[in-house]
Amino acid sequence: SDEKQRIWEADRDHFMHPWTDFSTFKETGSMIFTAADGVSIQDADGKRYLDGIGGLWCVNIGYGRKEIAEAVAEQICAIPYFSTFGHHTTPPAAKLAAKLAELAPGDLNHVFYGCGGSVANDTAVRLIHFYFNQLGKPTKKQIISRIDGYHGSTYMAMSITGVKVDHIGFDIDEQMVHHISCPNPYRRDPGLSEEAFCRQKVQELEDKILEIGPDNVAAFFAEPIMGAGGVIVPPEGYHKGTLEVCRKYDVLYVSDEVVTAFGRLGHMFASEDEFGIVPDIITCAKGLTSGYLPLGATIFSDRIYEVISKPQAEGAIFTHGFTYSGHPVSCAAALKNIEIIERESICEHVKEMGGYFEERIRELGELDLVGDVRGRKFMICLENVANKATKELIDPKAKVGNRIADACQKRGLIVRPLAHMNILSPPLILTRNDVDFVAQTLRESILEVTEGLRA
Ligand code: PLP
Repeated sequence: SDEKQRIWEADRDHFMHPWTDFSTFKETGSMIFTAADGVSIQDADGKRYLDGIGGLWCVNIGYGRKEIAEAVAEQICAIPYFSTFGHHTTPPAAKLAAKLAELAPGDLNHVFYGCGGSVANDTAVRLIHFYFNQLGKPTKKQIISRIDGYHGSTYMAMSITGVKVDHIGFDIDEQMVHHISCPNPYRRDPGLSEEAFCRQKVQELEDKILEIGPDNVAAFFAEPIMGAGGVIVPPEGYHKGTLEVCRKYDVLYVSDEVVTAFGRLGHMFASEDEFGIVPDIITCAKGLTSGYLPLGATIFSDRIYEVISKPQAEGAIFTHGFTYSGHPVSCAAALKNIEIIERESICEHVKEMGGYFEERIRELGELDLVGDVRGRKFMICLENVANKATKELIDPKAKVGNRIADACQKRGLIVRPLAHMNILSPPLILTRNDVDFVAQTLRESILEVTEGLRA
């Protein structure tokens, strides 16, 4: 239609999309999505797709939830916005903070709001720096994170991110951020047991802290399961081991739960319930509102709060905040989203159906192209390889991840290509039939692409 063409051109000519290769964008333009319901999205021609990526690891409760629309509308009519600087607040911001404190592990009882995951991580850095400064340890500023960890796109979060391509053309502050290696069991030395591999990775953190000097190291940032780095599940015991090292040197542990929280692994937060650790800070976003509105949160411990809330010698206060910190409409969406997750026992559903999903997708590991299927529950990655025995990588020029994603799309399934890999992070409300459809469609698509590669 004319309207569709106008939108397509407006998008092509004026909308600079995030994470997009503009060398090819002008030719292909965008697919336009106009509607969504449950686990499905619909394009401008009315074709439906099962959303295998949950928007972008975030639409946890699925699309079309009228209750969220109503909660949001009610809040907009009551009071759409007011600053929360100083001594002002609104009911949703206060109630959500208390709810997050209740759900978060240990004594993580304090919440700072921003608009997404990157900002939640930036906030964590500023909080940590301020904290150590107040403790009279102003040199404790440096951050350690991991290669292939993803923590966001603001300059600070990009620097902490360890995905190499994200740094091309940018100067990350090497005095401030240090990367240790990725704990990817699939790529470990053959002959090294998982236990020995874990010890090696934990030791690497300790060595790095000693190299920089414990008086200079402020924090360690880690996702419970790395997401955008290729869904890396660390070896058993890794998080406990790294937390112990952090405790030994008074280094704060920041668990980036932007993807893993709010049900994705079958828990409200994965740090303690899946990996047995209580970090000092948890950052979250995405599933906090199931993507219905932008919101991020930095949840931190009583210990940090006590220090930053003491009267300061030079009258310093924590000079950090955003116009939209604690935006009441986003907070109202989050409260309703959490209510739905709890009322519908979505975490229980994930434990069961996510388990089945994991099992069905793991079966694809028998295909020639698939070297590794990893992840847990509704957070899965398939790594395609040139040779299963040697784990040899596929030539990036073959664009295998894209080809599989295209083959799936043709069959009505959206999956995410990531270099030679494919990622799945669907809404958490998939039924058994949906799971079977995803598994069968992926199988057919991978087989089709395998044929194509042989031809
Ligand atoms: N941290 C993790 C683990 C993420 O996956 C992401 C986004 O994908 C971010 C942080 C950044 O969040 P945002 O894009 O909301 O700024």
